[in-house]
Amino acid sequence: MARTVLISGGNRGIGLAIARNFQKNGDRVVATFRSSPPPAEITGIKCDVTDETQVSQAVSEVESLHGPVEVLVANAGITLDKLILRMTDEEFGDVLQTNLTGTFRMARAASRAMAKHRWGRMIFLSSVVGFFGAPGQANYAASKAGLVGLARSLAWELGGRGVTVNVVAPGLISTDMTAGLAPERRDLLVGITPLGRMGTPDDVAHAVRFLASEEARFITGAVLPVSGGLAMGY
Ligand code: NDP
Repeated sequence: MARTVLISGGNRGIGLAIARNFQKNGDRVVATFRSSPPPAEITGIKCDVTDETQVSQAVSEVESLHGPVEVLVANAGITLDKLILRMTDEEFGDVLQTNLTGTFRMARAASRAMAKHRWGRMIFLSSVVGFFGAPGQANYAASKAGLVGLARSLAWELGGRGVTVNVVAPGLISTDMTAGLAPERRDLLVGITPLGRMGTPDDVAHAVRFLASEEARFITGAVLPVSGGLAMGY
């Protein structure tokens, strides 16, 4: 059955692959974007997740286009890498605002209708970095680890209403976000990935769609690594 799916940051990278995957499956998909819109085949709504008004407006817009959001994929994220001695409050806060508070805002805006209709799926994009840490990524790792506590609390709050809340933790995936990695760092990370390669955005999209499916109905509060085994066991 077709569902209404909202993906934050769905104009490029992993978010776009997720949007295409759901759309191919016949779902009604809306992808939010902050700067440039997604390709023409995907419906885009402008929304900066750091702005509460834009988030609630985006969710209302989806509702008037396609009905209540049934699947929320909170994917929008940024990095702003610095060693702690150089990291300002602002640089720490900006990453938290987008990755963690932005997800909280999206989830809050979507949860009312999910609870009312007694069905919903929320999937948050974390990262293996949230569990094993990385030099220069204190802000990013803190935000991604925080998503697990957020998801598990919402799993408790909304479980009785048929809403599941899960986390996907990608390893190293080929997108704009990782394009600037120093080749030595990339090779080091691929070297500790048992499957011996970087992942693709599609690898992540398949896992997200599974967690959104009816078949995943007894899975909530889970963290699913999609990492080729990088950092397994953390
Ligand atoms: P990209 O940098 O390719 O894309 C990031 C997306 O987030 C863009 O759509 C961007 O929009 C959007 N975005 C950023 N800030 C905001 C904001 N304030 N409001 C709304 N949208 C925003 O990243 P990836 O596709 O690689 O990553 C997607 C998610 O997966 C992120 O949460 C990331 O942390 C996570 N992840 C990625 C990994 C990787 O190796 N690539 C590994 C682990 C996790 P715009 O185009 O307008 O800037």
